[in-house]
Amino acid sequence: MPRMRIKSIFVAVLASSCTVLFAQDQPIRIHAAAVFDGTGKVVRNATIVVRGSKIDAVETNGSAPPTYDLGRTAIIPGMIDVHAHLGWHFGKDGRFSDRPGNPAEEILYSAENAYVTLMAGFTTIQSPGQANDVELRDAIARGVLPGPRVLTSIRQLNERSGSPDEIREKVRQLKKDGADVVKIFASASIRDGGKQTMTDEQLQAACGEAKAQGLRTMVHAHSPESIKASVNAGCLQIEHGVFADDEVLKLMADKGVYFDPNIGVVLQNYLRNKAKFLGVGNYNEAGFAYMEKGLAINAAMIKKAVATPNLKLVLGTDAVAGAHGHNADEIVERVKQGNQKPMDAIVSATSVSAKSLNLDKTIGTIAPGFEADLVGVDGDPATDIAAVTRVVFVMKAGRVYKHVAPAGARGSND
Ligand SMILES: [Zn+2]
Repeated sequence: MPRMRIKSIFVAVLASSCTVLFAQDQPIRIHAAAVFDGTGKVVRNATIVVRGSKIDAVETNGSAPPTYDLGRTAIIPGMIDVHAHLGWHFGKDGRFSDRPGNPAEEILYSAENAYVTLMAGFTTIQSPGQANDVELRDAIARGVLPGPRVLTSIRQLNERSGSPDEIREKVRQLKKDGADVVKIFASASIRDGGKQTMTDEQLQAACGEAKAQGLRTMVHAHSPESIKASVNAGCLQIEHGVFADDEVLKLMADKGVYFDPNIGVVLQNYLRNKAKFLGVGNYNEAGFAYMEKGLAINAAMIKKAVATPNLKLVLGTDAVAGAHGHNADEIVERVKQGNQKPMDAIVSATSVSAKSLNLDKTIGTIAPGFEADLVGVDGDPATDIAAVTRVVFVMKAGRVYKHVAPAGARGSND
């Protein structure tokens, strides 16, 4: 290679690396009508300054022109769904199948679901019980695939997972395989009545060993006795809890156990898409009858849960095929059905959920030093909670993935 050419390549490389350095050094300024910080505070007419992947400042009197002027938009922290099944999808025939397709199809459906979830303003997802979430999680983390941060349980434990010793070994293997959380089935599904399925000893082995390995636990439990057994076994988070009564709601509050009720998305989605599920596994008429009844039971349960003092409610949807991208409906239904205050519902979906993931020092709050996960919603969610379903701007870790005009914002006279 001639000397001149080497030199010009060197100059080009130097120039491009300088551009990267320069670009990283330049802050991005996002101005909005309101900034909800995720802990309950609102700053009106504010500018968020982002450097690299992190929030540098929240200014109210900055004079520098904004990079993005989002007008009437309110900015909230990137929303978090602590229970969504990114791998669930309808197949080519439009129907759900309990048998996976070929691996290429499966991972691409997961990538599609991850994308629509991110576009809906969810920048972090916990996805229980899907082995290929590991590759999905790692691809998104490399920054090449658009999607929320993914936390995965890889597999799940249930009453067929063996003796307490075998269960402890399985937990250790999960740790080795890179699981972020251990998913445990303490009860049957609501389609089968929700009774406790794992023994107390199995639950103690699962949650005790997870704790010893530094892994969090999330437990599928519907009936009061299965919730009680899980809490007493030292498990950290209860999922669903359709039949949770006052006693176990108080027990969870007293023990500081996170509760993840799913009242606004999953059953509604099943019923809306009944024809696509019916005939597969326990998706039979009796199962759908249970789910139909579950709507009213959930509505009564969430009112009691919201009213339980000190109960740590996180935001999870249990989103399955058909529900991805509708995650924020859960927040709206919390307010509608559960009488939760809109601000409390937002805090639940951001800083409280971040804390449940042990990520409260990095995500879920808009403050200097946190990851720049910022979501612009059209309207003021403190007075109109449905604004969280109208997402017009999405930034994750300092990168903009979505920026559209609010519906109805046509021209300068609007
Ligand atoms: Zn689930």
